[in-house]
Amino acid sequence: MVRFFLFLLLTVSFAWGEEVKLLTENFYPAGLNVIQVDNPQNLKVVVLYRDKKLTFPALGKKVFFAIPYDSGKFVELQVIRDGKTIYKKFIKVKQKKYRISRITVKSRKLTKKVLERIKRERQLIRKAFSIREEALFTENSFIPPLKNPRMSTPFGAKRIINGKKRSIHWGVDYSAPRGTPVYASLTGKVVLAKELFYTGKTVIISHGAGLFTLYAHLSKIDVKEGQMVKRGQVIGKVGSTGRSTGPHLHFGVYVNSVRTDPSLALKLKW
Ligand SMILES: [Zn+2]
Repeated sequence: MVRFFLFLLLTVSFAWGEEVKLLTENFYPAGLNVIQVDNPQNLKVVVLYRDKKLTFPALGKKVFFAIPYDSGKFVELQVIRDGKTIYKKFIKVKQKKYRISRITVKSRKLTKKVLERIKRERQLIRKAFSIREEALFTENSFIPPLKNPRMSTPFGAKRIINGKKRSIHWGVDYSAPRGTPVYASLTGKVVLAKELFYTGKTVIISHGAGLFTLYAHLSKIDVKEGQMVKRGQVIGKVGSTGRSTGPHLHFGVYVNSVRTDPSLALKLKW
């Protein structure tokens, strides 16, 4: 009873004379959300949860932010300008169950050379996700990266690989025949187009506003780093390169470097 009353109190949001509008109504773990502000200057959106904090700098009037995967039931949202909180809201996060899957992949012995490669590639990916630029798109939604997307593994699935090693699936897998065209989900700039150890032939697009999409295991990459791509433009073909069990597209949506659930991001309008 006390907890319920406390929650009622906490759902009241505060704004200090500035126009701050939350454009999302339902909040899920790993959900992508938008907040609209009148003046993005020196402004950031902060998500506080458990004893952790995620920060999303405003790169325009629409500020994208994520509820973390491990958010728990409540998060606190704050909009801060120059160290001053101008908006505060407690958000109830709808809970989701994630499935557990077992997969078998050909085990490869990781030599020192390969481990060094993996480390190098991790830094490349981190560098790509560190780009902060204004929105490069004028559209108000993502589109699916395949014409007929058939999801085979959802986001957040806990995987048991070869009966032991556990990992969380940080994207969505769509099964499709090798050679199926893959489309840019939103207008942006190609910031990575390379063959990587785990994700095979991989493309990362920066859309600006802190948004990124990732396309992995391609058989062919049709774009170059630095190239601008329009939403719906072919960027590559479905394949099974890298650590993969068969032809499929692994699709990831990120805000800053925070992983979000692509199925939720694809439903978002801003
Ligand atoms: Zn995948």
